[in-house]
Amino acid sequence: MEFIDLKTQYRRLEPLIRQRIDAVLERGSYIMGPEVGELEEKLAGFAKAKHCISCASGTDALLMPLMAWGIGPGDAVFAPAFSFFATAEVVALLGATPVLVDINPDTFNIDPDKLAAAVEAVKKGDPKLHPLPVQAMGGALKPKAVITADLFGQPADYAPILDMAAKQRLAVLEDAAQGFGGVYRGQRACGLGCHAAATSFFPAKPLGCYGDGGAIFTDDDELADLCRSIRVHGKGSHKYDNARIGLNGRLDTLQAAILLPKLDILGEEIEARQLVAKRYAEGLAGSAVATPKVPDGFVSAWAQYTVRLKNRDAVAAALGKAGIPTGVYYPKTLAAQSALAYLGYGADAFPEAEQAALEVLSLPMHPYLNEKEQRRIIDSLLHEAKPQA
Ligand SMILES: *Cc1c(COP(=O)(O)O)cnc(C)c1O
Repeated sequence: MEFIDLKTQYRRLEPLIRQRIDAVLERGSYIMGPEVGELEEKLAGFAKAKHCISCASGTDALLMPLMAWGIGPGDAVFAPAFSFFATAEVVALLGATPVLVDINPDTFNIDPDKLAAAVEAVKKGDPKLHPLPVQAMGGALKPKAVITADLFGQPADYAPILDMAAKQRLAVLEDAAQGFGGVYRGQRACGLGCHAAATSFFPAKPLGCYGDGGAIFTDDDELADLCRSIRVHGKGSHKYDNARIGLNGRLDTLQAAILLPKLDILGEEIEARQLVAKRYAEGLAGSAVATPKVPDGFVSAWAQYTVRLKNRDAVAAALGKAGIPTGVYYPKTLAAQSALAYLGYGADAFPEAEQAALEVLSLPMHPYLNEKEQRRIIDSLLHEAKPQA
């Protein structure tokens, strides 16, 4: 049994993918070949965003808009306390300070009320309003941007976040690395009206390539131009005119060629994931396994199907013995990562994130998970899960 089955999809698309790869090999345009532009156009159409700028990874897709906005030392960038490391890493990499915010325990996403409190706390430099990094004490930092994460594929709650951000003049960057294909109030992830959105094409994400890749989405013409420049060493009017400091952040033509046929079936695959999620929810209902909640108006892309368990580690070990792969995303909060210890957050700063880190277990989830395999996973879980720790 596979945790995320990439082979079945490959068998399904094999002739199309090989044709696309062959076309690139025959032409030899490995860097910024025509498939890159074709993909960007189709991705922008899928998400209904004005611009799509493909790039080398989801991490670069987060980094480049922050660089374009001039985020740096003295700036506060708000981010959820429970996410993949890159969500906060890009902030620290630019010398700005990640100000972490606790999550909503039902959705694992940033809590909009706590986010609003965190912004006020940074403005006043007052840790009584919200746990603050030592760098923000006494009003030393300027609030600049919010990075939300669409964790496990479910969009964050954008209406209150965008409302607050407009009042506080903050830029909002949607980290949709796991969320591409998800829907919030009728609009697809990366087209939700944030100032910019970032996704990843890491193979295990809902839309994955065969290596690293990512993309930025925005409706802002100026931001799009800046990201296109930053993507190629801050290029100006031509390749050897460097107007600003940038990166080598391009998506390979081969990866664009692989993504094109995959994008054509993404909508259908997202539908198939809904069915898998429904079978888990029904099979585990009323048990000691708490299944994920998807509020009205949200559709998850189900990058992960993550349950909560009081005896998580024992269940994970028992399932592993039975040949059922599981994952713990994430065993630590961002505040507990050694690399961010310099922020000086206390061990109990983000109680919901800390509780999640102890209880979460991600189950096999992909569009090709069959009913028989899923029955076995559900039966094993019902057998092993205990109501008490
Ligand atoms: C995967 C992921 C990233 C980083 O994407 P890469 O393509 O691996 O650089 C960023 N944020 C979140 C939430 C992710 O899951």
